[in-house]
Amino acid sequence: MALAGGDPGEVRLASFREHGAISYDETERAKAILACAVSGVSFWLAAVPKFTTVHPDTLIVGAGVAGIQAALEIAEAGKHVYLVERTGTIGGHMAMFDKTFPTLDCAACILTPKMVAVGQHEMIELFTMSEVEVVAGVPGDYRVTIRRQPRRVDQDACVTCGACSEACPVTVPSEFDCGIASRNAIYMPFPQAVPNAYLVDAASCRYVQSGGEKCGVCARKCPKECINLDEEVERVEVKVGSIVLATGYDVYDATRIERYGYGVYPNVLTALEFERLTNASGPTGGRIVTRTLRHDKRAKADQWVFDLAGSAPRSVAIVHCVGSRDHNHNPYCSRVCCMYSLKFAHLVREKLPDAECYEFYIDMRAFGKGYEEFAERIKQEGTFVVRGRSAKVTAADGRMLIRGRTF
Ligand SMILES: Cc1cc2nc3c(=O)[nH]c(=O)nc-3n(C[C@H](O)[C@H](O)[C@H](O)COP(=O)(O)OP(=O)(O)OC[C@H]3O[C@@H](n4cnc5c(N)ncnc54)[C@H](O)[C@@H]3O)c2cc1C
Ligand code: SF4
Ligand code: SF4
Repeated sequence: MALAGGDPGEVRLASFREHGAISYDETERAKAILACAVSGVSFWLAAVPKFTTVHPDTLIVGAGVAGIQAALEIAEAGKHVYLVERTGTIGGHMAMFDKTFPTLDCAACILTPKMVAVGQHEMIELFTMSEVEVVAGVPGDYRVTIRRQPRRVDQDACVTCGACSEACPVTVPSEFDCGIASRNAIYMPFPQAVPNAYLVDAASCRYVQSGGEKCGVCARKCPKECINLDEEVERVEVKVGSIVLATGYDVYDATRIERYGYGVYPNVLTALEFERLTNASGPTGGRIVTRTLRHDKRAKADQWVFDLAGSAPRSVAIVHCVGSRDHNHNPYCSRVCCMYSLKFAHLVREKLPDAECYEFYIDMRAFGKGYEEFAERIKQEGTFVVRGRSAKVTAADGRMLIRGRTF
């Protein structure tokens, strides 16, 4: 448009793919997308080129591996970075993994040096337990308000001795272990967390929930006197020229697909739960076992738990595309479950050589470098790779049965 002497602002993009008209029978949707684009022309405003000084600092929201890598590269280029992370540590999902596809490299060996580098880099200012509250200003010159939740532990003074956690009477499911292990109300997300310090989970802490009337035992036990249970929310304003959003993903809620029995049968797991089960730092030290029923004295109830008393399964089924490529859930491909499912098959065959392993897939989307070779390797390792949709999981006599339809 510019070359033709027109205003580039007059160009309207009608993206069929991005707006969901992706299959052949979606002509009506495509027409609607086109109509919206054309109607938008009447609201056209001239795009007037403007030159402005760009503030050199950058804000990155989300400190998973993507935010970490972006922060390190920008900081290495000599620019100041504010890295804002919602949870108490950086690392994101990758910190939960044992091995990574397609090379089966150790995830922690790749990630933790980067996490440490972020924590020590003089050009990176880290805000954990924080979120962006307000973004104001104009492109190139933003004013950002960051809201920091109280950690209630002085992260510079904490020596991670764990005395506080040992004394804490509250036990809740651990987010890092996807609920298949537990933590206390004062805890470290995982041993290599950055910042390497404990934190108080306000939602489960008796002191916070009772308005300061109950408990407080952790503060009394801390040898460094670095716990302040009354610490309050803090707001910090920073100026930046650019903002990188690296907020990653959430996993699909598997309870919404009732036919798979997640939440009903104790040995139906989500992919992230399986990651934690197979991880050497997980509740069974990486052993793949079934859950056992235990009596929890504190909860006064029987609970299904993963521990070393569990037995090795004789057969494992891995279902692809759960919540994806299904018009009742997410119509799109997750772009990741084929590959991590193949990784799981490798781990099952490696750790349980006597067990049978089945993969149920719709299409094998092994699209990246080394992925196709990885898929071939899994077949050579003896996994039964079945093309078809698994329809239902049922259970009888302590065993589960999975029925499917092959294509
Ligand atoms: C089960 C499973 C296994 C996988 N295995 C592999 C593998 O073997 N190899 C591989 O290459 N890939 C694998 N992946 C994909 C891999 O997890 C992702 O590609 C990668 O971890 C994404 O990193 P990220 O930084 O973009 O996002 P995330 O790891 O999701 O990090 C995002 C971060 O942003 C934070 N955040 C979110 N919202 C906000 C907010 N509003 N404010 C502040 N912070 C926020 C989150 O707390 C989080 O720390 C797997 C994925 C799954 C689900
Ligand atoms: S004050 Fe809260 S975190 Fe500290 S011991 Fe009591 S319940 Fe646990
Ligand atoms: S007792 Fe104090 S120093 Fe020790 S881990 Fe807890 S907060 Fe840190």
